[in-house]
Amino acid sequence: MSTTNRRTFIMQVVAAGSAVVASRAMAQTAAKLEETDPQAVALGYKHDTKKVDAKKFPKHEVAQKCSNCQLYQAKANEAWGPCQLFPGKQVATNGWCSAWVKKVG
Ligand code: SF4
Repeated sequence: MSTTNRRTFIMQVVAAGSAVVASRAMAQTAAKLEETDPQAVALGYKHDTKKVDAKKFPKHEVAQKCSNCQLYQAKANEAWGPCQLFPGKQVATNGWCSAWVKKVG
């Protein structure tokens, strides 16, 4: 690897690392999703899976929650985290909405 290529490579690695740090920082500072948010209301989102309307969502089970949903992107043991369905917002690890999909693996 030439000096120029090495320098370019290092700059790309540093830039990529900065982007990762920035996106994590944004995720940590993102606002918490409100249950009154129109999209949250439309999907029946609740911060607590135990408070989901059983009549409206008869297939819901208490064991279903954001932490075991395929769309949840937080690390283990975090109380709130990003969801692919609500960009820029954080959902509760014990939350639930009707788009819940069992996490694979
Ligand atoms: Fe939670 Fe999954 Fe609904 Fe997102 S899609 S709010 S992670 S249940």
